[in-house]
Amino acid sequence: MRWQFIPVLIMAATLTACSSLPKPKPIPTGSLEKFQEHAAKFNEVVTLPTFETTPDAVKVTVEKTIKDGNAALDRIGQLKPGEVNFVNTIRALDDMGYELGLAENRLSLIEQTSTNAEVRDAATDAIKKISDWSVGTDYREDVYAAVKAYVATQPQLVGEDKKLYDETLRDYRRAGLDLPKDQRDEVEKLRKELTALETDFENNVTKARQPMKFTKAELAGVPEDFLSQKGIKTGDDEYTLMANITFHYIMVEDNASREDTRKKMLAAQCNLARDVNIPLLQKIIVLRDDIAHRLGYASYADYATEVRMVKNSATAIDFENKLKDGLQPKYDAELEEMRQLKVKDTGDVNTKINVWDWRYYANQLKKTKYNVDAEQLRVYFPYERVLEGMFAIYQRIFGLKFERVEAPYKWVGDLQLYSVSDAKTGEPLGLFYLDMFPRDGKYNHFAQFGIIEGKLLPDGRYQRPVCSLVCNFPPPQPDKPSLMSHDEVETVFHEFGHAMHTILTRAKYSRFSGTSVPQDFVEAPSQMLENWAWDKKVLDSFAADYRDPKKKIPAEILAQLKTARLATEATRYRRQLSFGLMDLALHTQIHSTNADELLPLSNKILSDVSLPVVEDSAFIAYFGHIIGYGAGYYGYAWADAIAADMATVFENSPDGYFDRTAGMRMRNEIYSVGDSRDINVSIEKFLGRPRSIEPFLKRIGIGKSQ
Ligand SMILES: [Zn+2]
Repeated sequence: MRWQFIPVLIMAATLTACSSLPKPKPIPTGSLEKFQEHAAKFNEVVTLPTFETTPDAVKVTVEKTIKDGNAALDRIGQLKPGEVNFVNTIRALDDMGYELGLAENRLSLIEQTSTNAEVRDAATDAIKKISDWSVGTDYREDVYAAVKAYVATQPQLVGEDKKLYDETLRDYRRAGLDLPKDQRDEVEKLRKELTALETDFENNVTKARQPMKFTKAELAGVPEDFLSQKGIKTGDDEYTLMANITFHYIMVEDNASREDTRKKMLAAQCNLARDVNIPLLQKIIVLRDDIAHRLGYASYADYATEVRMVKNSATAIDFENKLKDGLQPKYDAELEEMRQLKVKDTGDVNTKINVWDWRYYANQLKKTKYNVDAEQLRVYFPYERVLEGMFAIYQRIFGLKFERVEAPYKWVGDLQLYSVSDAKTGEPLGLFYLDMFPRDGKYNHFAQFGIIEGKLLPDGRYQRPVCSLVCNFPPPQPDKPSLMSHDEVETVFHEFGHAMHTILTRAKYSRFSGTSVPQDFVEAPSQMLENWAWDKKVLDSFAADYRDPKKKIPAEILAQLKTARLATEATRYRRQLSFGLMDLALHTQIHSTNADELLPLSNKILSDVSLPVVEDSAFIAYFGHIIGYGAGYYGYAWADAIAADMATVFENSPDGYFDRTAGMRMRNEIYSVGDSRDINVSIEKFLGRPRSIEPFLKRIGIGKSQ
């Protein structure tokens, strides 16, 4: 997904680079105790969380978290005007947020990974209770009075302290604390109402079910392996697929040769949760709009983007529109190429590519024109080798040393724990868990969970971070090892990048540490690292046929994969842009006076930017991101553009994707700093020049050189 052409290196440089390529090897074993003792020498603390293992323990944690939180707020609220200072107001709030985060992070991980369903449910309730409580903490007038008393001392702050001070005040303003009491109470009430409606919307998305019955003939083209799976063949000539399971939906859209089947499946998905969620979403969008107006913003999109890199909705809309226009010629050409395939299939020279066709013909194009079968790459990616190879690369470029240590407590038997130290100084930097294989009740995507964030503790020691990757790679079989797809290799490089972001932090305050950077930047470093999975030299450092390790990935296959990816990139990207622009339009154009325009407006934008929607459908009702991102979906493209730009630093370095100088610059200017200084400054320091959109345009096939 993130490949870009790499300038050819001169031979000598290539040879030098090759001789020093990291070799994947098993990670040595170390001692957790020694690692912790060593941390003390650096005035640092390394601790592991104590996980709650029963519903009662979860309840105790909730009570304690809220009680301790209230006590911390009481201490601030009781300060007399003459007693206030930075430490007992602004930093005390960060300390409280940190403690709260510890509980929330741990409970979120438990909710997604515990092997005990009751504990998972208890964690879900617990998180809800804590977040309900935490909305109210913004409105503690005694605390705000203490903060204002500190503001009145006109403190002269610099650097990270100043940023913490400014942003704490900004939070209060954004919560409505600057408003007269009656208006502020109204905002608090509306925010609580909004949170409840948002939860309902998301629950409706999760609960939506739509079984679809097909005959074998209707499913022509869909792989037999898939159709023969348990639960799918439900009768002699009856197959039941679920429109709400993405995997089922994609199997049909990518492979079913019958147009009516693809259309039926898509229409079903675009009507999931429609009856309940359209009225709910109207209320949500109107409430968001209302709150933003009360706080003095022109729109919710302006409110939401104020704290992100993009700063306002106009810049986000303009960015997306420019990309949309820039992609037009390539998009038209791609659609025409797909249309020609459909003409051949149907005999109809006037046929069109519909929204239910593009995935199928993009796939056909891959198979017929580019002869790409991504599945054949799996044999080159046995899980252990990929992990060792990736570890070798990350250790090299970021100057690190990993050791396997014994986890004192494991939430699942095959859990692994690793320590991370600085390769040069031996300084302990943090710990990460790996929970890599699927099981019942576990989180079903791939993600990095921060557990303990980095922070300078009140006693002057630095708390080093702990995080976990939670993934679902194919489990090993009795006759063969876990074999990853190329996509999964890309994913593990991406997710492990987030772990690096968490662990390598040196920010003083938890608000700025690790991945707590603006939402439209946080994916960029990891999106950049996806490039590594498309680089022949990187892959050759570890990928080899598990049956005959002398066999490396044939260069032609990788080249074909890249060409095939680029061949439908405009179509894929226009779809992303349609989501981003729809999200921004709803959060700028829908108000209490025109809430019933919500569905037609969302359909119109999807149809204009991507392909026309199925008649009388409601894609937006099942689009959960409209809640979580809230005027932030544009960030996907925004961060992608930065990622491509950042990748050039490595690509232009002597050792390319193995370059330690570039890696150390990334570690020092991006990962260590986190959000403790303006992210624009960090990016430019890493790039060594102003940002450029060119590398991104080139990557998606519309750059100047194309
Ligand atoms: Zn990510």
